[in-house]
Amino acid sequence: MTSIEIPFPDDWHVHLRDGEMLEAVVGYTARRFRYAMVMPNLAPPITSVADARAYHQRILAVAPADAPDFRPVMALYCSPAIDLDDLRRGVEEGIIAAVKYYPAGATTNSDAGGTSLADFMNLYETMIDLGIRLLVHAEDTDPTVDIFAREASFLDRQLAPLCASLPELAVTVEHVSTGAGVDFVSAHPQVAASITPHHLARDRSDLLANGMKPDLYCKPVINSSADQAQLIAAATGGDPKFFLGTDSAPHPTAAKYGPVAKAGVFNAAYGLEVVADVFHQEGSLDQLAAFTSTNGAAVYGVEPSEHRLMLTAESTDQDLATHLTTAAGDEVVLFGDDEATRWQVSVS
Ligand SMILES: [Zn+2]
Repeated sequence: MTSIEIPFPDDWHVHLRDGEMLEAVVGYTARRFRYAMVMPNLAPPITSVADARAYHQRILAVAPADAPDFRPVMALYCSPAIDLDDLRRGVEEGIIAAVKYYPAGATTNSDAGGTSLADFMNLYETMIDLGIRLLVHAEDTDPTVDIFAREASFLDRQLAPLCASLPELAVTVEHVSTGAGVDFVSAHPQVAASITPHHLARDRSDLLANGMKPDLYCKPVINSSADQAQLIAAATGGDPKFFLGTDSAPHPTAAKYGPVAKAGVFNAAYGLEVVADVFHQEGSLDQLAAFTSTNGAAVYGVEPSEHRLMLTAESTDQDLATHLTTAAGDEVVLFGDDEATRWQVSVS
């Protein structure tokens, strides 16, 4: 039987939402991950340390007591509203770990985002000084750019010039989704990237070929099979620049199945099984710990967890949950229940 033990994973990109949705989803992340880089795109977005601290407390207040070592860390939302002294205090206190740039209009609650990366040079200078990373949602929102080319276009038009002018700024390209993105990361020493379970395990034919699947709709959109192949090669190849960030992003089915589907895949429940399945198929399970547990830790300057998690390739004939229901009665579909039937996860 194939089985592998890894240091407890970190999730370097997750949406925990707020209120009843937060209560419903936080346990999935807290029981499977140590660090969780919590995204700030609430409405309104988190732009001050006081708001980040209050959100951090709301998260811990509803996190399950049996989570082995759950450590949420907060990213501020890149905005003119960020006060540089406030940011400095937040980083020194250990509550703020990064700043997240959203292009305005690119994804859920991004209306307050920037129109150009170049608008925040003073902020970046402070971030270099503080040693924190800029997390980038890399998507060109120019409506003339094809939806499947938006990541490449943003990297070329916006991130490349920024990297050239500020080579000391450490950048994470979040949820890298294309071969062009992988190439960009490899070509820039200051850039690393998170990769999601769903971009590793699916391509746009899965999204569109047999009826449109709103549960696979996310931003940046899942791209071609050639892009997927390059993502898999980057994740399984042991390159320390690539690591797991689930981008787990719950939406109620009422918002997913309407005429305009919300972007986001909720994968906190079975994302690890999905990733393990991809690595297993590649014959690269020996690289799994690097991707889930050590590469990201090194990029963010922390030691890998001393807790361990065991994944075993063993089928179950149990019926696994396919959705959760919040206290408000909203249903959220759990991504990866197919892969999850092939893996057993245990925590030691
Ligand atoms: Zn995200």
